[in-house]
Amino acid sequence: MEPSESREAKGTVLLAHWEIMNERCIIMRKDWDTYFMDIAFEVATRSTCPRRYVGAVVVKDRRIKGTGYNGSASRLPHCIDEGCMVVNNHCIRTIHAEVNALLECTPEERQGATIYVTDRPCAECSKLIISTGIKKVVYARDYHIDYDWFSRAPWVEVVHLADYDNPHAKTGK
Ligand SMILES: [Zn+2]
Ligand SMILES: [Zn+2]
Repeated sequence: MEPSESREAKGTVLLAHWEIMNERCIIMRKDWDTYFMDIAFEVATRSTCPRRYVGAVVVKDRRIKGTGYNGSASRLPHCIDEGCMVVNNHCIRTIHAEVNALLECTPEERQGATIYVTDRPCAECSKLIISTGIKKVVYARDYHIDYDWFSRAPWVEVVHLADYDNPHAKTGK
C-alpha cells in the first residue's frame, strides 16, 4: 500500500468512527422534558420536609425562570429540625415547590410558561398554576389528589412522564 493510500484509508476509518460516535451522541442526547425534569429532581434535594422531596422548575422559551422546593416559610423552623406538622395526613409546615417556583417569576414570565414538577401537583397548587397563566404542567411521579382542577381547565396541558427515570430514586429523593 502506498503511503498516501494508507493515509486515505485511515482517514476513512476515522470518519466512519466519528460518524458512529456522532450518531451515538444524537441518540443519547436527552430531550427537553427529561432535561428540565432532571433539574426539578435536583432542586428537590433542597427540600426541608422529609415526607416528600418535591422540586419544580418554571420554563419559558426553554429558559428557566424560577425554581422551588417544598420548604418552610422564610425564617420559620424546618421539618428536618422540628419534625413535620401533620394534619389530616399532610404536613402543613411547608410551602409547596410549585408555589415557591411561581413566586420567583414575574407575572409576565409565568404567562404561557411550562412548570416541571417532580410530583403531580396537589389540588391547591393546581388552582394556583391555573390562575397564574401556566399553559403546560409536566410531572413525573403520580400522587393522590383531592380534586383534579385541571379537568376543569382544559386549556392547561397536563403531561405525566410515566416512563421518567428518577436519578435520585435510590436515595428516596
Ligand atoms: Zn414536613
Ligand atoms: Zn401543592
